[in-house]
Amino acid sequence: MRVTVIGAGVAGLACAVELAERGAQVEVLERAERLGGACCSWFAGGMLAPWCELESSEPLIATLGAESIEWWRKHFSATAARGSLVVTHSRDGGELTRFARRTERFEWLDEEAIAALEPDLAGRFGRALYFREEAHLNPRAALEALEQRLAALGVNVRYGVDAYASGTGGEGGPAEGAWVDCRGLEARDVLTDLRGVKGEMLLLKLPELILSRPVRILHPRIPLYVVPRGAGVFMVGATMLESDQPTRISARSVLELLSAAYALHPAFGEAEILELGTGVRPALPDNLPRIERRGNILYVNGLYRHGFLLAPALARRAAEVVLHERLYPEVMRNEDSRQRRLA
Ligand SMILES: Cc1cc2nc3c(=O)[nH]c(=O)nc-3n(C[C@H](O)[C@H](O)[C@H](O)COP(=O)(O)OP(=O)(O)OC[C@H]3O[C@@H](n4cnc5c(N)ncnc54)[C@H](O)[C@@H]3O)c2cc1C
Repeated sequence: MRVTVIGAGVAGLACAVELAERGAQVEVLERAERLGGACCSWFAGGMLAPWCELESSEPLIATLGAESIEWWRKHFSATAARGSLVVTHSRDGGELTRFARRTERFEWLDEEAIAALEPDLAGRFGRALYFREEAHLNPRAALEALEQRLAALGVNVRYGVDAYASGTGGEGGPAEGAWVDCRGLEARDVLTDLRGVKGEMLLLKLPELILSRPVRILHPRIPLYVVPRGAGVFMVGATMLESDQPTRISARSVLELLSAAYALHPAFGEAEILELGTGVRPALPDNLPRIERRGNILYVNGLYRHGFLLAPALARRAAEVVLHERLYPEVMRNEDSRQRRLA
């Protein structure tokens, strides 16, 4: 079966891989001129943290997200399965207890155990939560790995192509085969309840500091995190602003991000700022992902703050819907259109 995937963010690339690995004849169309040129996925932290996310998400996120770690380890060998840490300074100690009440699959660590896991954090925190089974990855390298996997499967990613531009025939859907639309927030023209949740992030360079796993720093107002990228580079993220403004970064946000890094370790005061970035997360009203069929087009969207965490589970399901007409009520919507056959 011929399938065109629209959008080379994490959702589109993961769908293309799952479809091609099942034998579909796949092509990916991407409007930007290069990988990461205009996608939210380029700015992600890359945390694969299904159980931490229970703190502010529905159980479905953990259920779907639990599939992701094995998938990423298979498709991107640099996926680091070293767990994640959650810390807070003692004056906000209640935050850690509250976080623990809402999440699962963690261990409490004392100061000594924290130092054993992360020697550079020795003496800085009295208690922490350790989510041993969680993982993280470098999103940019992971997207490149998916693109390479697609090339090995014979799938072409065509850049600089707006799939719905007039003259492409895309206005009413494909003339043959199926389309899988993974345009993120751009799919608002059809999925009218999509909204943007902007996230600002920093990349810092501090070769003197070594961290092996993501660390979340809880604070009643600004819970933020630091993710090690290797070679002395750290991603600090991320704000959550109800906005679809894609570029502007406020001084307040930079202040908050830098304060979080500094609260984690004062050595960050000497870090070099490599990048300030923003992405706009595509979110649905319930902040849950959705696979929705309309005619010959299957929409995979609403990945919100969980794109890398959820893309594997959604891509598997989307491929089964397209190729084998399977139904997944937990993520699918629109009972009538579900029953319709793809071309
Ligand atoms: C700061 C920040 C930190 C984050 N941290 C994490 C994290 O730690 N873990 C996690 O799991 N998630 C994280 N996320 C969320 C994650 O990044 C998103 O959920 C994910 O990127 C959404 O992916 P997507 O493929 O749906 O959309 P996008 O990545 O936006 O991709 C959509 C693609 O479609 C293309 N496109 C649009 N219109 C057309 C068209 N007409 N024709 C062809 N192509 C088109 C766009 O150019 C784009 O490349 C974070 C997000 C941000 C902003």
